[in-house]
Amino acid sequence: MRTALLISCSANVALLAFAFAGPLRAQEAGLAPPPTAAEMGLAARRGILHCHSHLSHDSKGTPERIVEACRAAGVDFVAMTDHPSPESLSEKALRGVHGGVLFLAGAETKQILAVHIREKIQGPDTQAAIRQATDQGGLAFLAHPEEIEDWSLEGYAGMEIYNLHSDTKDEDKGHLAVRGLAAYFEDPETCYLSFFDPPREFLARWDELGKRRRVVGIAGNDAHENIRLGRILLDPYERTFRFVATMVLVPDRDGPLDEATVLAALAAGRCYVAFGLPGPAAPVSFTARAARGTAAMGDELSLSGLRESVRFRAELPEEGRIVLLRDGAAVAEVTGRTLDRTCEGPGVYRVEAYRAFRGRELPWILTNPIYVR
Ligand SMILES: [Zn+2]
Repeated sequence: MRTALLISCSANVALLAFAFAGPLRAQEAGLAPPPTAAEMGLAARRGILHCHSHLSHDSKGTPERIVEACRAAGVDFVAMTDHPSPESLSEKALRGVHGGVLFLAGAETKQILAVHIREKIQGPDTQAAIRQATDQGGLAFLAHPEEIEDWSLEGYAGMEIYNLHSDTKDEDKGHLAVRGLAAYFEDPETCYLSFFDPPREFLARWDELGKRRRVVGIAGNDAHENIRLGRILLDPYERTFRFVATMVLVPDRDGPLDEATVLAALAAGRCYVAFGLPGPAAPVSFTARAARGTAAMGDELSLSGLRESVRFRAELPEEGRIVLLRDGAAVAEVTGRTLDRTCEGPGVYRVEAYRAFRGRELPWILTNPIYVR
C-alpha cells in the first residue's frame, strides 16, 4: 500500500517534497482545495431505506410506531418497502409527511427495493421489476446482494452496501440468539454489534460494478421490529434507525423534506452510509477539484489527460481513520478529521472512515464515489 500511496498520491507539500525529492508539477501545486459540501450549500439529512410495517407479512409495526421511532432517532425520511400484499401500496401505506418525517411508498420484491412507486410490481424476475419501478418514475436498488446471482442486471440506481438482516446470516442461529441476548443485557443499544461484520463482500462487489457503471451505495436497514425473545423486543425501530442510516446531501433548508429532493439526491449518489455507534453521522463532506471544475460525492469529474491531478478533500465531524480508495484499493490513509490528497488520473474514488468503539474498530462512514473519467 505504501508504494501505491507514494506513486499515486501526494500527502502534503512537505511530505511530497520528501517523497519525490523533486519539484511539484505546476498543475498540482495550482489546485486549490475543493469546497466542502457545506460550502456548496449542501446539508446532510438522515434517511432510512428498507423499512417494513404491518402491511408486510413479517412485521406488526404500525404507522404510529414508525413515526414515533423516526422522531426519536432523528430520521428525516423513510423509504417504506413492504413486501407486496393487497394493501402494501394502498391508502394504508405510509406516504407523505407525518410528524415532520417524509415517507416514500415502495416495495421490496424480486430482490429490489422499488422506491417511490404507485403500482404493484409484477413480472417474472429482477430485471423486469427494475424496469417496472423505473417506468413508474421510481428508483430501484438491489437488495440483499448476497442473494443475487446474475450481476448483468441493468437500469438500477444502486445497491445495498450494507443490510442489517444480511449481516446476521453468517451466524449460527443458536449462537445468534445467545450472544444477542447477552449483549442486550449488557447494553440494549449496542446489541447489534454481537453479529455485526464489516460488509467487505458487498463493498468488493460495489467496487467491481463501479468500474463499469455508476452504482449508488445505500444502507438497507431492513427494519421489521419483529425479533422477540420471550418478552424482550430486540429490534425496536429506534435501534435499527440509529444503528445505520443513508444520509442524503440536499440543499440546506429547514423543514420537512420533499419527495423530489430526496429522489434527486439518491439518484445522483449525493449520499453516504453512516453507522451510528462509532460517531456522529454529520457533517461529512467528500469533494474533489480538477482543472475543469469541482465535484461532490456522486458526481463525475472529467479530465483532459491520464496524468492530470485531482485534489480530494474529506471532512468528518470527529477524528477517525480515513481511507481514500481508488477502484477499491486504498491509495491514501490518514488519522484525523480531514484528508487532503492529490491523486493522478481517472478512477472511482471513495472514502471509508473507521473509528474505535469499545475496543473494536468499526466502519463509521462509507461515502459514495466521485467518478473521475
Ligand atoms: Zn426487507
